[in-house]
Amino acid sequence: MSFTKKVLISMLSGIIAGILINNFLLPNDFIEYYLINQIFFTISSLFLILLKMIVLPLIFVSIISGIVSINDVSTLGRLGIKTFSLYILTTLVAITFALFISSFVSYDSVGQITNDIQSNIAGNMDQKNIILSIFPSNFFSALANGNVIQVLAFAVFIGISASYVKKDIPIFIELIDSLNKVFNKMVMIIIQLTPIAVFALLAKTFATEGVEAFIPLIKYFLVVVFVLITHFFLTYSILLRLFSNLNIYMFYAKLKALIIFTFSTSSSNASIPYTLNTVVQKYGVNKSFASFSIPLGATINMDGTAIMQGCAAYFLASYYGIDLAFGDMVTIILTATIASIGTAGIPSAGIIMLSLILTELGIPLEGITLLLGVDRLLDMMRTSVNVSGDACITCVVAESEDLIDIKAFNKLDN
Ligand code: ASP
Repeated sequence: MSFTKKVLISMLSGIIAGILINNFLLPNDFIEYYLINQIFFTISSLFLILLKMIVLPLIFVSIISGIVSINDVSTLGRLGIKTFSLYILTTLVAITFALFISSFVSYDSVGQITNDIQSNIAGNMDQKNIILSIFPSNFFSALANGNVIQVLAFAVFIGISASYVKKDIPIFIELIDSLNKVFNKMVMIIIQLTPIAVFALLAKTFATEGVEAFIPLIKYFLVVVFVLITHFFLTYSILLRLFSNLNIYMFYAKLKALIIFTFSTSSSNASIPYTLNTVVQKYGVNKSFASFSIPLGATINMDGTAIMQGCAAYFLASYYGIDLAFGDMVTIILTATIASIGTAGIPSAGIIMLSLILTELGIPLEGITLLLGVDRLLDMMRTSVNVSGDACITCVVAESEDLIDIKAFNKLDN
């Protein structure tokens, strides 16, 4: 059975098991403690922990080995600017589209807000200087804190420096290449755990939340899903058509396994190894470029997250009886785009960053708790869109720079 099929069957079984547990076995302390909070929780968390364990070492060595193998270091700057601009452009499109579609929906309102509602979520978000936060003053603390962008910046710097003295350091280059192979193998081993991990994750979610959590939020949920799917098919096809000569059908046909995988992780960061593998093996993108653009995308490109944030801001504004003027829409677009750069590619990060947008608009932050019942499932879907965007832009830029093997891209069975 193919990997995708296995994961899909596990997902479905997880959802059914969760609903059955919620309806027939709960409340029951034993089931809650041992089955849900111990067994399901441990299995699903272990999978994420293992992926997170490998992601920074993998990025580190694959970027260095990638840059060392690029002969002309100056191309790196041009590639960086193109990739970054497209990442920002698609996020702007995503959030604008989310607001546009939301404006056709009428949500129920609970009336005017009282202003005594406080939340401490905003306290977590100090305004920080984005440029300075890219560079680590201490590489080891960047590693210890799991800061992808800082590890990326340091690796790029090592890679560039190493390319200047390439001839004198054959042992260093060989070591990095060998480590790269070992880490890739580790990734392949961890990925085998996906079916069991996704079963545990979905069974836990549906056992604790139940389907009832969805009912009051069904309209919001459907709007987000509609915008995610439309953006996924429309924006990325337009991007492929306008900026490349790549076969659009091939792009989507080969994306299935990656989408299913990110569904299981709800984390762009944890999916980096798999995304990297997909764009290199299936789409034929040059590995050096992919090992730079995929981690960058996982950190700054969050179209799906921006869509959720736009729809959520609109939904909560209506819920609290706040009218959004044109200026408020612009605020949402700008804040969500900046927030998406600062949002970590980890589960639930997007809903926490939503507080930034709500604060700007004066919407009570406690509205976030309203959304939590459906957020786990939406997180899976938006993360898949986030990662698909990274893959699409990586292919588009790679094609424009002749860094893609078109034969491999057009071959369906690799
Ligand atoms: N889970 C998302 C990601 O990793 C971020 C979010 O929207 O919560 O891309």
